[in-house]
Amino acid sequence: MSEKPCGLCLAYNEDIRLVHRNDYAFGAVPTTPICLGHIIVVPKRHVQRFHELPPNELSAYFELRDQIVDRLMELHPDMPPLVGQNNGKWSTQPHAHEQIAPSRGHFKELLYLRDFLEGGKVGNLILAENNRLVRALGDTPKETLEEMASKLRF
Ligand SMILES: [Zn+2]
Repeated sequence: MSEKPCGLCLAYNEDIRLVHRNDYAFGAVPTTPICLGHIIVVPKRHVQRFHELPPNELSAYFELRDQIVDRLMELHPDMPPLVGQNNGKWSTQPHAHEQIAPSRGHFKELLYLRDFLEGGKVGNLILAENNRLVRALGDTPKETLEEMASKLRF
């Protein structure tokens, strides 16, 4: 690695929020989860795009991601998880990762929210849409990050 480790590089060795890890990837509760079951899945190697990973590390990443999806299906059978990633200017970290969260199947809610954001509409419209999004994905978490991770860990 040529550059200084980022927060997600360092998170690989963090145990408190850890859900599961293998030799090349890990899943953890994000610092600001939107619901119980919201997990970030991160390759150990610092890359901006997944295609930069060597094939064995990419394979290990997807194996872990599928295990996390299976774990969420087991815990929330009525809310199969939604998997997504932000790219380019929407990326929150310079380190490739994906978000997984239990969902009530309202993927279109996310797209509608995008349209409101891109349209520059603010205030009650965003608030209303944001509330719909939270309802679509799950309940607002009340547990600590550590408590959430311990419920999800396998
Ligand atoms: Zn990094």
